[in-house]
Amino acid sequence: VDIYRCPRCSNSYPMSEPRWVCDCGSPLELESPGPLEKDGLRGQEFTLWRYVAVLPIRRGEDIVSLGEGWTPLVPLEPQSSGIYVKLEFTNPTGSFKDRGASVLVSKLKELGVREVVEDSSGNAGAALAAYCARAGIDCHIYAPAYTSPGKLRQIPAYGADLVLVEGSRKDTAQAVLAAASKTYYASHVYNPLYLEGTKTVAYELWEQLGWRVPRVVVMPIGHGGMLLGIYKGFSELLHAGYIGSLPRLVGVQARACAPLAEAFQRGASEPVPVEEGATAAEGIKIVEPVRGVEILAAIRQTGGACLAVSEEEIEEAGSELGRRGFYVEPTSAAALAGFERLRSQGPMEEKTVIILTGSGLKAT
Ligand SMILES: [Zn+2]
Repeated sequence: VDIYRCPRCSNSYPMSEPRWVCDCGSPLELESPGPLEKDGLRGQEFTLWRYVAVLPIRRGEDIVSLGEGWTPLVPLEPQSSGIYVKLEFTNPTGSFKDRGASVLVSKLKELGVREVVEDSSGNAGAALAAYCARAGIDCHIYAPAYTSPGKLRQIPAYGADLVLVEGSRKDTAQAVLAAASKTYYASHVYNPLYLEGTKTVAYELWEQLGWRVPRVVVMPIGHGGMLLGIYKGFSELLHAGYIGSLPRLVGVQARACAPLAEAFQRGASEPVPVEEGATAAEGIKIVEPVRGVEILAAIRQTGGACLAVSEEEIEEAGSELGRRGFYVEPTSAAALAGFERLRSQGPMEEKTVIILTGSGLKAT
């Protein structure tokens, strides 16, 4: 506990160090406190902080919360069919990224960090900006200058400093790395505290389904923050003896940018190099997922799958969700598209959960 460990070279570092990557270049992992005492949940508030026993925060006064987590789990169709959607877009800033941001910023408060930098023009940037505002931490978000203005409105609304960088996405990455040499780099991609936040989705599903594990969980994957978090949460429940097996984890990518789906098809253990194609699913347009090896291993260990869907399938799934009362961004619609593909190949198991990660208002 309170130690970052490298899954590739086994180096470890104290968490009090403002570190975001191993010296070998690998992203780091965290051991959890825990296990959870089921009885301890009685009387806990209905946010992700009801699982504080398995989160790496010591003092209650350090918790930075906007009421994130405990999102609704509802049947996809009104006549219950055993297929559920988890409404992650109902989190405070409109996406599941609030889970990671809440846990990360709480830890930063505990460590006394006063200022952070991050590179994201999307949901992660908005989430970090909101939680830093809540905590009184100065937040600088780096984004490429070409990012559409609509996408960038939410970040300064929380009082964050938005730094627009001319040139390519790579230029933005270099600019934030230069800034990170002096300021804490609150990377939603590298920082393992983000996964501590997303793992609470697994605990919630288990509790919301009456202490049972879903058979299949389907979600969009780019850097895999949701998938690896869910994998970690269910693995902890398995080790604690609360569940007997892991759900099959299904990751869905856009065909235009599918390094993980390609690798899964080929039986490769590492992401396949791909070109960055055009897709409406911007949240998962990730050419090089930094935890790609871990994502592929997790999917295979659970007997899951990774597949790529077309732009037409994403659009159709988005319309279908809208007709059912769910307004989500194209990235989330990709998850339903993946599910529909699987359903067309054979009946889906009861207790399948589709994660709807981000609000449609983000993409309007
Ligand atoms: Zn290492």
